Amino acid sequence: MSAVPQTVARLIDEFSRLPGVGPKTASRLTYFLLRQPPEQSRALAEALIEMKERTRFCSICYNITEDDPCPICHDENRQTGAICVVEEPLDVLALERTREFKGRYHVLHGAISPVDDIGPDDLRIRELVERAKDPAVREIILATNPSLEGEATAMYLQKQLLPLGVRVTRLARGLPVGGDLEYADETTLIRALQGRSEM
Ligand SMILES: [Zn+2]
Repeated sequence: MSAVPQTVARLIDEFSRLPGVGPKTASRLTYFLLRQPPEQSRALAEALIEMKERTRFCSICYNITEDDPCPICHDENRQTGAICVVEEPLDVLALERTREFKGRYHVLHGAISPVDDIGPDDLRIRELVERAKDPAVREIILATNPSLEGEATAMYLQKQLLPLGVRVTRLARGLPVGGDLEYADETTLIRALQGRSEM
């Protein structure tokens, strides 16, 4: 017989699957919830289920949204001439916080990484190329992470996009190499956006 009831062990196991949560943190979260009133666990469970049921990908930019198209694609005050390409939805949030960029986005949902067996077809690249064919689109800003995978993805995108006659730019250096866009502070991001260069 285990000292941990099976239902408790199951929750610890589920928490352990989350990024950045080790077995110790998973146990701490579980035993915290055990000590709290039942309403707290119910609210957490409902939030999890609603989040999955109510959200989907925007059919234009592939950001996560409750409404399709998403509020950014839907916003007529945003410029249609510039598309900023990012790896993850959290990168959109980071760039939006700068209030510097007034165009639209495109979320790839990852980066090319042969080690992890992620190729161009696993990302929303074909959809981006289709969007770039719209004559209203004049600039594509490649804002993939300044990591090996992010750079490889930017190079690949450049090759796909340049023949379409669209201007392709890349965020300026100044972003920490090997870092994640979502962790960059606003000043660094604003500078990187302003100093973007032709690819
Ligand atoms: Zn959208």
